[in-house]
Amino acid sequence: MFRNNRYGHLFAVVALCLLVFFFSKLLPTSSPLPAAEEKETPDIYGEENPGDHSGGGDPGEENIPEQMPGAHAGQPEQSSAVTNEGSGGVEENKTPNETPQQDDDSLIKLLGFLQSPIPGARITSRDSQLPGAPRTYRNGTHEGLDYYDGACGVPIQYGNPVYAAGEGTICRIDHHYTELAEQERSDILQVSSELDDTPTDILDQLRGQQVWIQHRGNVKTIYAHLSSVAEDLQEGDPVKAGDFIGNIGNSGTSDGMKGTTANAHLHFEIWIGENYLGNGLPAEKTRKLLQELLE
Ligand SMILES: [Zn+2]
Repeated sequence: MFRNNRYGHLFAVVALCLLVFFFSKLLPTSSPLPAAEEKETPDIYGEENPGDHSGGGDPGEENIPEQMPGAHAGQPEQSSAVTNEGSGGVEENKTPNETPQQDDDSLIKLLGFLQSPIPGARITSRDSQLPGAPRTYRNGTHEGLDYYDGACGVPIQYGNPVYAAGEGTICRIDHHYTELAEQERSDILQVSSELDDTPTDILDQLRGQQVWIQHRGNVKTIYAHLSSVAEDLQEGDPVKAGDFIGNIGNSGTSDGMKGTTANAHLHFEIWIGENYLGNGLPAEKTRKLLQELLE
């Protein structure tokens, strides 16, 4: 009996110790739980809200929902950590989509000195005349903005003057331009067709008679399809915004090749380093940028 009692005591003591141990393990875990749940809630909202926004809005944000689950899958159990890092991830995912906005601002700052090469002209409402539009006839992309009669609020006629869009230095002016012969033109278009692309030298021929101006900030403007260029200007000459540089024409186009004045227009490009303005942007965004800069 005594022995039994003794074992009974021992058993009771061991059981008590185990109970105390389990309680001690349970108590600290249960007390932070409400806090953890509180923290989980914003995480759930944090996850759903951007999804909702991206789902219902800009098609350019389609990548976000795909990136989101990946970011969370990497931290499945750390609810409080996910709350912070998860929302950090959301911020990171948003950033690329907001970058164009920031880029817009910095672009406008960088290019703010430019003005329209044709006074009073508005930006075309036709996407096909904006930079970034496809050019199927040469398997390439339009890298400039077109000013056509009837599309920009002022008359655009063969021979109308074109002016420097900003202060800079003439870095190219085609004083001795000869129009492409019909065979030459069809040959280079054939090359574009075979390559499924427009090589730089061919693109240059298709721009016709040109003036290029180098501006500050590694910005360059190109004026193409001209019918003539300012006789008194040479490469290296400084120009101010509004200086006369040439006349509207259709050189380099099929109409120019035929010797007519049909479809005369100014093709105007803005380059920042190796990138033309509008490269990779949706047409509406490009139009807005150009309107802000040039109207
Ligand atoms: Zn053009």
